[in-house]
Amino acid sequence: MTKGYNANQERLAAINSLGKNLAKRAGFVCEWCGAKDDLRPWDYAPRTEPSEAGLALLCSRCRELASGVKGDENELRSIRNALWSDVPAVSEGAARVLARCKEPWVREAIEESLIDDGVKQEILAGR
Ligand SMILES: [Zn+2]
Repeated sequence: MTKGYNANQERLAAINSLGKNLAKRAGFVCEWCGAKDDLRPWDYAPRTEPSEAGLALLCSRCRELASGVKGDENELRSIRNALWSDVPAVSEGAARVLARCKEPWVREAIEESLIDDGVKQEILAGR
């Protein structure tokens, strides 16, 4: 238990130390929807070493979407442009949220994106 707790604290410290670079990269707006509300790093790849590629700076609503809260179609359209990011946490993370929506434009948008083909197939297969 203690070990897991310490590992978690270390991870949070490592993520926080990347926070400044992350905010600069994001231009101080949410990397999914562009909002400025309560921006925090979101951990896309919790099983790998914390890195800038595995983190996205997200607003509170987008962090809710990332955690599995269902968004309406307008919200999902507002994060569509994130698919074009070259940061995996931004593009793949958004694709995973979008893929929960069954509308045809979602599949098209993900297929058109520059996300790694293997990841793309995995995301679309899970729909
Ligand atoms: Zn957002």
